[in-house]
Amino acid sequence: MMRSFTLLEPRSVEAACEALAQHEDSRPIAGGTSFVIMMKQGFLAPDVLVNLAKIPVRGTIEVADDEVCLDAFTTISRLEADESLRRLLPVLVAACHVVANIRIRNVATLGGNVAHADYQADPPTALLALDAALDLRTAEGQRSLTLDDFLFGIYSTALQQGEIVESIRVPVPSPMSWTYDKFKTRSSEDRPTAGVAVGLRTEGGVCAELRIAVGAATARPIRFRDLEASAAGVTVEDVFADELAGRVATSIDPVEDLNGDATYKRRIVHAVVRRAIMRCRDGEATR
Ligand SMILES: Cc1cc2nc3c(=O)[nH]c(=O)nc-3n(C[C@H](O)[C@H](O)[C@H](O)COP(=O)(O)OP(=O)(O)OC[C@H]3O[C@@H](n4cnc5c(N)ncnc54)[C@H](O)[C@@H]3O)c2cc1C
Repeated sequence: MMRSFTLLEPRSVEAACEALAQHEDSRPIAGGTSFVIMMKQGFLAPDVLVNLAKIPVRGTIEVADDEVCLDAFTTISRLEADESLRRLLPVLVAACHVVANIRIRNVATLGGNVAHADYQADPPTALLALDAALDLRTAEGQRSLTLDDFLFGIYSTALQQGEIVESIRVPVPSPMSWTYDKFKTRSSEDRPTAGVAVGLRTEGGVCAELRIAVGAATARPIRFRDLEASAAGVTVEDVFADELAGRVATSIDPVEDLNGDATYKRRIVHAVVRRAIMRCRDGEATR
């Protein structure tokens, strides 16, 4: 049975931060899709819940200086349906599209997804491939962190008590082919064994830019910047994709869970990364 709690419903980010600062044992809640389950299971029992869902969303997307600014309180379904986002950040749209089911996506927010830091989440892997940064706010002030610095591990982030993710900023990448590939073993709504985001730009068959992020197989999504850099100037052939994917797979420290042990996860990551690179090369990707 859930412990009783006080529900506060501020109408601005400032008022939400103030409410969190005033109550020591308080937590923000947005869509509630993960938080309520954890409360029902008794893992979380704050005295005060500060509901962020009543704060008016400033607009799904603002584009300025080649940067997309996403309101953290935007629902995942709203993001996946946005035409300009489909054009500018197709890999994020693809990752949003495979989150759970439409009922969850209609209430779950992007900020909640990132702040929850479930290692099997989809959008953070795409956001990491896109070099996203987060704007965080407390009653005292604001700060910004790259997603890479924000994510620590399973359910673990740099968020401090009373701090809210206010927006997620994504630099618009140069035109390239993107794919988000989610490998699931059971139902279509299942959590992934691996989620892989790959971006590739080729010039005359040669790699000009490559981005690889792997999630779900590891305690938090990982980028492979050294491997990406080493691929520049190399002809993108099958053997190249296989070797690169093999190096990604051997470099990770997989989480062993109901989806499989470390050896299995490495094999899946190898196969999915290789396939994602080939899809991008062959133009079968998201764009
Ligand atoms: C059946 C089911 C299937 C799912 N499948 C998938 C899946 O396939 N892929 C996937 O990626 N996810 C999946 N999820 C997880 C789901 O996407 C997340 O629960 C959701 O995105 C969290 O967003 P929310 O707004 O509901 O957060 P909430 O549940 O309200 O909050 C989650 C956590 O984030 C904190 N929080 C929320 N908003 C903020 C904010 N703005 N600033 C600071 N902290 C905040 C809360 O305090 C809490 O700790 C699934 C969930 C369910 C229930």
